[in-house]
Amino acid sequence: MHRECVTTALIGFGRLSLGLVERYARQLEDFAERCLCPRCGEGPRAQWASASLVTGDRCVGICERCAGDETVSEMRTGVVPPIVTWPTLDRRGG
Ligand SMILES: [Zn+2]
Repeated sequence: MHRECVTTALIGFGRLSLGLVERYARQLEDFAERCLCPRCGEGPRAQWASASLVTGDRCVGICERCAGDETVSEMRTGVVPPIVTWPTLDRRGG
């Protein structure tokens, strides 16, 4: 997971303050460091075989179920659900 890629993806969503972007990026890194899927929080697993579509270089490892979710959503809607929709993000405190 590259901090710059995650930051870029979050900024691309267009509705977040920079403080929030940094906070969310840190939260996702924290999940990855604990070997948990940063998208759904499930784990533990050292190495996810799948990668999220949210970054251009696919540097964010996620679990198989989340990868399936993304693929289905993209096929249905033409859009990959953005990182801000991930349930792992703690939105408290703005
Ligand atoms: Zn997951």
